[in-house]
Amino acid sequence: MHTKEIGRNLIQVDLSTGGYSKLISSYIIAGPNPVLVESGPTNSVPNLLSAINEVGVKLEAIQYVAVTHIHLDHAGGAGTLLKYLPNAKVIVHPKGAPHLIDPERLWPSSQSVLGYVSEVFGKPEPVPQDRIVPMTEGTIDLGDGDKLTVVETVGHASHHLSYLESFNGGVFPGDAAGTYLAECNVVVPTIPPPFYLESALASLDKLIALNPSALYFTHFGIADDAVNRLKTYQEQLKLWARIAEEGVKERLTVEEIRRSIIKEDPAMIAVEDYVKGHRILQKTVLENCVNGIVGYAERKLGKQLTA
Ligand SMILES: [Zn+2]
Repeated sequence: MHTKEIGRNLIQVDLSTGGYSKLISSYIIAGPNPVLVESGPTNSVPNLLSAINEVGVKLEAIQYVAVTHIHLDHAGGAGTLLKYLPNAKVIVHPKGAPHLIDPERLWPSSQSVLGYVSEVFGKPEPVPQDRIVPMTEGTIDLGDGDKLTVVETVGHASHHLSYLESFNGGVFPGDAAGTYLAECNVVVPTIPPPFYLESALASLDKLIALNPSALYFTHFGIADDAVNRLKTYQEQLKLWARIAEEGVKERLTVEEIRRSIIKEDPAMIAVEDYVKGHRILQKTVLENCVNGIVGYAERKLGKQLTA
């Protein structure tokens, strides 16, 4: 299995969902009160379980599965995973909780946004209501004086949380800080519709104020220089928004706006070939995220593009 110790008490798991490595991580916090951050999707729950076994954490010792938000790649597997974790509860934003308890609406809406990618992730199973802990703030006791602090970071979604751990000083930003493409050392936006720019920027301010030592990206892995990356991501989102607003004003097509973004954003220039050649990222970054920023611009300007 693909486990890597990346800090004290902290193990990164490459979930290899659908055979795609370096796409989705979960994290095991292996202290006295073990906690998982992100269940990942349904289809890679067996991989996560074997990783937990491999690092010697007992399934019955796990206290919480802390998910950043309810999108399938982060929490879709929570219901399935809990069947194997007899003592664990799921920490989730209260706005996301109903969709974990009853995923019947989440699945078709995910299928329509993600297309074939939703099949790679798999259909979510329900989480029993009595095993949900809704939170927007507060801390989780990890034992030995360590804790995990919940930080509400909406914008990417209205039900998004990040987590700060006290033992290494790093943050789990979920999708609030973009997608980190480690091979290229570049962050690209993760902003599917409906995307709320102002909330996303304010959430990034919150994370910057924590002065984290590292970012533990769900997509994908640990990155240093955290504060600079968060500030750079804010500028990148503003750049995408400016391009999209100009495009909507000029009645460009979504395709034309996509081409402008790829041409004007230095990060996109650097990873264009990589993203275009990646079956998942071409859908999530080049389609969904461009749609997210165009939707933002349309709402702001009160104009709708036809194509
Ligand atoms: Zn997401």
